[in-house]
Amino acid sequence: MKTVYIAVGSNLGDPVAQTKLAIKSLQKLPNSQVLSASSLYSSTPMGPQNQPDYINAVVKIATTLLPLELLDQTQKIENEQGRVRKDERWGPRTLDLDILLYADETINLPRLIVPHYGMKVREFVLYPLLEIEPNLILPDGSALTELIKSVDRNGLQVWG
Ligand code: ATP
Ligand code: MG
Ligand code: MG
Repeated sequence: MKTVYIAVGSNLGDPVAQTKLAIKSLQKLPNSQVLSASSLYSSTPMGPQNQPDYINAVVKIATTLLPLELLDQTQKIENEQGRVRKDERWGPRTLDLDILLYADETINLPRLIVPHYGMKVREFVLYPLLEIEPNLILPDGSALTELIKSVDRNGLQVWG
């Protein structure tokens, strides 16, 4: 079994419900088990500001799916929850599932880059991750507790 962390984000179509539904769908992934999930957080958008705030969470799973098999599954969940891909980068979406870490592996494929390229600077990823895995060390040796010192919360709050 490999330990994997997945970032969940939504800002359309009842983002709280979308995020909870996504976590339920992750619980049904084949050959996998959800080990923990962070609280839900609200965050201000990255990139275009003329869009609703986001709900974010991070989920920890154990899986025997291979990295691309897992990506196929997470993209299927995105599609099932009505994700429409538009040209605008970082535009609004019903659901985004990003694979943050896949064990301690470094993956550089056209469809999949792991660790996720933005995770070290995104408050809406690092703070939920800290909640569920405070002692996390990234494959490059950086400690989550150190990374987070240089990342502003940017209005990020536990939702509810
Ligand atoms: P960002 O990646 O900056 O968070 P985004 O999540 O909005 O932006 P998407 O439109 O969801 O980007 O994904 C674009 C492509 O990124 C996907 O088609 C997928 O193949 C690729 N991709 C590369 N690495 C990953 C990863 N670690 N997790 C999920 N998708 C990835
Ligand atoms: Mg993303
Ligand atoms: Mg994505």
